[in-house]
Amino acid sequence: MNCCLAVLLKDCSFWAAPVTKACSWSWRNILLTRRYLIQSVLYEVRDGNSFSLWHDPWVLGDSIVNRFGERVIYDSGILRNTLTSSVIREGRWEWPTTSCDLLELNNITVAIPLPAGRDKVHWMKKGGIFSLPQAWLSLVPHSPVASWAKVVWFPKRIPKHSFCLWLTFFNGHKTLDKLHSIGVSHSDTCIFGCGQRETINHLFFSCPFIASIWNHLLTLCEHNRGSGGWDMVSAWSIQKLQGNSFKPWITKLSLAAAVYHCWVQRNNRLFRNSFCNSESVIQLIVSDVVGKCRGLDRVVDNQLNSGIFHNWNLPSSLLSAGVDTGRSWSMS
Ligand SMILES: [Zn+2]
Repeated sequence: MNCCLAVLLKDCSFWAAPVTKACSWSWRNILLTRRYLIQSVLYEVRDGNSFSLWHDPWVLGDSIVNRFGERVIYDSGILRNTLTSSVIREGRWEWPTTSCDLLELNNITVAIPLPAGRDKVHWMKKGGIFSLPQAWLSLVPHSPVASWAKVVWFPKRIPKHSFCLWLTFFNGHKTLDKLHSIGVSHSDTCIFGCGQRETINHLFFSCPFIASIWNHLLTLCEHNRGSGGWDMVSAWSIQKLQGNSFKPWITKLSLAAAVYHCWVQRNNRLFRNSFCNSESVIQLIVSDVVGKCRGLDRVVDNQLNSGIFHNWNLPSSLLSAGVDTGRSWSMS
């Protein structure tokens, strides 16, 4: 800290330190965070011995220089690097009255109490303590939660599958229609031999080869519906797969696994000339989903769940009596 004061700040206030070409990249960026930081810190003047009179943001969240400009320093006849204590006498504000700005300052600070003790800097509110998570939340702008968030990020997911599904919701895969449009690929014809264009909507799951895989998984999860393109599947999943009871949970697990393994198969065909039939892809998906289910230590034994268990050939020892509270499973 002393090193910072002596070398980086050269004994001037952190809030007044200039950003110059001589600043290192890291120091420059620390200084640039001040515009965000000033929204989050609360300066409480007590004895005035820790705060810079002109530069620290103790006047209703702002510094005097910011509010009134440099002229007020000159008008006051008080040194630039002085502390706030220089205008406090016996627990009361005492300002020079040599300019309109100083008179206004006097009026403003009358409303600022001066409790006994040392000056304090609070985080966000009085008594607030700095923490990295709080700082992150206050400094980084947050977007509203996406409607598909719970379809992608659900408990006990398989991370690499969820990441692939997240990319799909973002339309982030480099499908052949995109590569063709920028001249990277000679053709945009689907690699699974259906003769149609490869788009996200086609791959998940309009393409007959992939539709057969997804339809099989839907049946295993006790969903009586046919496949469609990604526009339909994504809208359906957002509407129907929000909960975490066993059926939506295993359907989300299957959806993410299907998207992941079908994308891997597409890449294998395209770049490695390696082919698997749909039964083999289903086996890979089933293996991942069943492996995850075997890690559960309790699934409520009801007609729906036991039907799904039967379809997936899951061990019935995982089923146990209990009330379905919406999350009808738990994991050891
Ligand atoms: Zn196709």
